[in-house]
Amino acid sequence: MKRIFSGVKPTGHLTLGNYLGAVRQWVEVDQYAADALFSVVDLHALTVEHDPARVTRLSRQAATLLLAAGLDPERCTVFVQSHVDEHARLSYLMECVATDGEMRRMIQYKEKSVRARESGQGVRLALLTYPALMAADILAYATDEVPVGEDQTQHVELARDLAVRFNQRYGQVFTVPKATHPKVAARVMDLQDPTSKMGKSHENGSGIVYLLDDADTVRRKIMRAVTDSGREVVYDPEVSPGVANLADLLAAATGCRDVAELAATYDSYGALKKDTAEAVVELLRPVRERHAELAADPAYVEKVLRAGAERARGMARPVVDRAYRAIGL
Ligand code: ADP
Repeated sequence: MKRIFSGVKPTGHLTLGNYLGAVRQWVEVDQYAADALFSVVDLHALTVEHDPARVTRLSRQAATLLLAAGLDPERCTVFVQSHVDEHARLSYLMECVATDGEMRRMIQYKEKSVRARESGQGVRLALLTYPALMAADILAYATDEVPVGEDQTQHVELARDLAVRFNQRYGQVFTVPKATHPKVAARVMDLQDPTSKMGKSHENGSGIVYLLDDADTVRRKIMRAVTDSGREVVYDPEVSPGVANLADLLAAATGCRDVAELAATYDSYGALKKDTAEAVVELLRPVRERHAELAADPAYVEKVLRAGAERARGMARPVVDRAYRAIGL
């Protein structure tokens, strides 16, 4: 059976971008189609300035949301990355296979290191080596497919390169993974700045729909989305990124596959916003309701995470042990 691995960072509250770009695919397709593992990748939350208590809290909240969204612990493995030592163990080997030039070329490193430098906090070394840890996350499970949003393509490519290089130098140990993306809304844009992606750690929350936003907040954010001064509703991400983003959201929320055709049925931005807002409210309603139930039972979530880590460890350990032997340790 195919093996799937993916994860989400507990650096902020989960967004509609996380849901449409990744989590929904995990829930609706991946957990049925494969032997799948989904992780709250908390080690990755330490690469930028962080508050320890907040990381713990957000990590449990993310896990609770993954279950609320519909991941079924009977069908897939849900766990917290730092509970499984193999990630950090393998990450070091990845650092010994990768080059610093490869790491410095990563777009996310370039963007985030500029931000960290500007804020006067210094750039943590782990921000540079982040993709080595991510490669370890993926390769430790002999992963075939990594379902992610488009922003993660470059990191998964690097994981492929490192797997191939390791296998060539030290013998066949790793499965070479590939990234997969949803057909619609693989890159959800910020509602206030539709030229940048909706990211959970961005400062300004008004352009971001969080999965736990109440219905009125979702409506308000979408109704205030930046469009442009044109009138006609035409799907063109280059010329009208704000309008295209709304159409993408509507298409994704309603299961429509032809976004351009859907956009063309509207004769005003106001109507497009209104329908998008209602569709997103309906999409998120069951997730929010189930989250409230699960949040009232943290012991259940802990139990799921403990069992998940146990299972994940059992899968990762033989692969990582093999890698250690192959490299000469
Ligand atoms: P974030 O950038 O919000 O911190 P993560 O790095 O935790 O997100 O990513 C979790 C998953 O959500 C990844 O598969 C990522 O590609 C996806 N994702 C994040 N933001 C978006 C977005 N705006 N549109 C589509 N997918 C996204």
